[in-house]
Amino acid sequence: MGKTLFERLIAGELPTEIIFQDDLVFAFRDINPKAPVHILIVPKKAIPRIAESTSEDQSLLGHLLLKAAHIANLVGLEKNGYRLVINNGHDGGETVPHLHCHILGGRALSWPPG
Ligand code: 5GP
Repeated sequence: MGKTLFERLIAGELPTEIIFQDDLVFAFRDINPKAPVHILIVPKKAIPRIAESTSEDQSLLGHLLLKAAHIANLVGLEKNGYRLVINNGHDGGETVPHLHCHILGGRALSWPPG
């Protein structure tokens, strides 16, 4: 299997604005932002989507969410709030098959999503 798009970003094979990384996760600006702040955080392990994660991924997924909140603080979203989104499969709007959590903020977001 070839690398996923996000594995190519992690490897530095494609340019992106990196916001944060550690041994387990990688966060970068979304190329097509849906809000004034739109960052993606992904596990460096290429889990295709949340539905294909397993109990082995439990601590990795907890780490991903904790770091998403940390990054939201880093970029100044804590005061007014923000939204974390994970799209899964066709109806969820998933377009890149490498698990990622959207960090969206900088404006009031409507609910329910379209
Ligand atoms: P999904 O629709 O799968 O939940 O989200 C995929 C996200 O990846 C989209 O918001 C899209 O704009 C973003 N994206 C797709 N290709 C690239 C890219 O090459 N670089 C960056 N930074 N983001 C990308």
